[in-house]
Amino acid sequence: MPPSPSIRPQGAEPPIRDRGDACPGALRLHSAADGNLARVRLPAGDLTAHQAQALATAAGRLGDGHLSLTSRGNVELRGLPDGCGAELAALLRDAGLLPSARHERVRNILASPLAGLDRNTPADVRRWARELDELLCASEQASALSGRFLFVLDDGRGDVATLGGDVSLVAEADRAAAPAGSGGTALLRVGDDPAALRIAGPDAPRAALGAAEAFLTAAAARGSGAWRVRELPAEQPLTAREVAAHLHETGITTTYVTQAPTPASPPSPHSAAPGIVDGPDGTASLCVLAPLGRLTLAQWQLLTAVAADDGRGALRLTPWRGIVLPGLPAGSAAARLSALAAAGLITDPDSPWHRLGACTGRPGCAKSLTDVRTDAAAAVAAGARVPGAPPTAVPDGLPVHWSGCERRCGHPHGAWVDVRATGEGYRVAVVRPDTAPPPDDATAPPP
Ligand code: SF4
Repeated sequence: MPPSPSIRPQGAEPPIRDRGDACPGALRLHSAADGNLARVRLPAGDLTAHQAQALATAAGRLGDGHLSLTSRGNVELRGLPDGCGAELAALLRDAGLLPSARHERVRNILASPLAGLDRNTPADVRRWARELDELLCASEQASALSGRFLFVLDDGRGDVATLGGDVSLVAEADRAAAPAGSGGTALLRVGDDPAALRIAGPDAPRAALGAAEAFLTAAAARGSGAWRVRELPAEQPLTAREVAAHLHETGITTTYVTQAPTPASPPSPHSAAPGIVDGPDGTASLCVLAPLGRLTLAQWQLLTAVAADDGRGALRLTPWRGIVLPGLPAGSAAARLSALAAAGLITDPDSPWHRLGACTGRPGCAKSLTDVRTDAAAAVAAGARVPGAPPTAVPDGLPVHWSGCERRCGHPHGAWVDVRATGEGYRVAVVRPDTAPPPDDATAPPP
């Protein structure tokens, strides 16, 4: 995983950006210690079985035979040799994974993975995500967005609304309050502004793009070169009122909501926990997780085969480094889940691998102080999720993330347990939302 910015302490000045971001993409490869890395954006984590097979071909023919899942529901291929860019691009383009070369790094869209699958919510946000992606790829202005800018589309359950989107859409649960046949309503927010704009559901994708364009205009006017909404100068943030004015010019009607309600959080830290999800139509979906976010080619191909043979021919990648296989016959779901478990995937919420993450570490990242993934695996084998401590040492079932240096690439949002290599062991600390980087409150030797 290429380095990401270190955690910025609360209250610290936003950075001044005097260059474009260096986020890797499918066309802009990142040179890592284990070869080149490509990051393939998958808006809403959506993949057809055919596209999944194309990624398997790329990983097997060009990469190191593994696929890494990111905290934005994207896929990374590692170990790519120099000079493979044209062949990789052709493979992805033929599979429909590169609809616009100029926009490939800005297609950062998260959407509630279980929307429409579990009797709780309709699938509106999935449809909005696809429409937003098409609008993004057709927008000349949007190609100037940073590869870090993030759209988040929550179906109202609160699973992705807290993942730090620059532009967030939250479908409103009380659809009955919306005019009949109107397609519901959504609340649109920018950055951390507590205010929101209520918009008609059919306008939601266009409004999200409009908010991103308003950000680009604001960033240019402020002159800070901000890549993200939260990086704008604190005294000149992008506000919902500013976005409303922009949307008004494009013919989108909005209602200003002074204090937008925060969606109720799901009971689990995420709602696509491993297991079987019963659907509304006699079908079931399977939710599995990749151990430490990495899949072997064989695991990926098994998932693809289950999706193609028994499901809807589709996979949904989640921001929790998981995969949802929608639409299996309810009668075959348990057997299919067992087969995935036997292949080494996480299918049980009580697994010690559940909510355990790690950055790339050595040997893939030259910055790493140690091989964190091997250390994390050794800790699990020894019955621990943090170095040298029993599982009960992790408070409230919080996610645990191991990092090879202070950058903490790919760490979870919200509250989490930080396990950071120091060169002399690991330091362990609980991170709460909106807090400064964790204090060095515990040091443990390598497992
Ligand atoms: S060691 Fe880990 S956290 Fe540090 S830069 Fe590398 S991948 Fe990121």
